[in-house]
Amino acid sequence: MALSNKKISGLITEIGGNEALSIIDYIKDKKNVSEFIIADKLKLDMQTTRNLLYNLNSFNVCTYIRKKDRKKGWYISYWTFDRKRASDLVSKVREEKLNKLREQLKKEEANKGNFYICKSACARFDFEQATEFAFKCPECGSLLNMQDNTKTIENIKNRIEELGKEGK
Ligand SMILES: [Zn+2]
Repeated sequence: MALSNKKISGLITEIGGNEALSIIDYIKDKKNVSEFIIADKLKLDMQTTRNLLYNLNSFNVCTYIRKKDRKKGWYISYWTFDRKRASDLVSKVREEKLNKLREQLKKEEANKGNFYICKSACARFDFEQATEFAFKCPECGSLLNMQDNTKTIENIKNRIEELGKEGK
C-alpha cells in the first residue's frame, strides 16, 4: 500500500522534529549519503546530525552502512531512507491508535451514563470505583456526580472514523 508523503512527513516530524524531516527530505531520493555531507548540507553540527540519524534508525526509517575512510583512517556512516519501512510504520502507528480508541469506546459504551466525576474534575470513576469511595472524590472530598458520556462517545467515534479514512 502506497502512502502519501504527507503522512510520512508527519511521522518523521513526530519522531525527530523539523530537523529530522529536513534530513529525510535531503536523502529520500539518494542512496548511501555520507553523514558529513548531510551535516554540511543542513548546516548542523556532527553530534546533532548523528543523534537525529540514529534516532531515525531506531525506528527503522533509515538504514546505514559504515565504511572506513582510507585517507583519514576513521569510519564514516552512509545513510539511506527506507520508504517501505516508513510506510509500514505509519500504518502501524495508525493501527495502534485505532485499537486504543476502540478499547476506549468499548469501555465508554459499557459504562454509558455510569461515570462519576467531582465538580473540580480531579478524576473520573466508574460506578464500582465511585461506590468504593462512597461517592466522595478521594482528591478533594467533594461529591461525585454522574457524568453524561454521550459527548465522549461521539468524539471517540468521530476520531475512529477520521483515522479509518486516512488508511484508504
Ligand atoms: Zn475532586
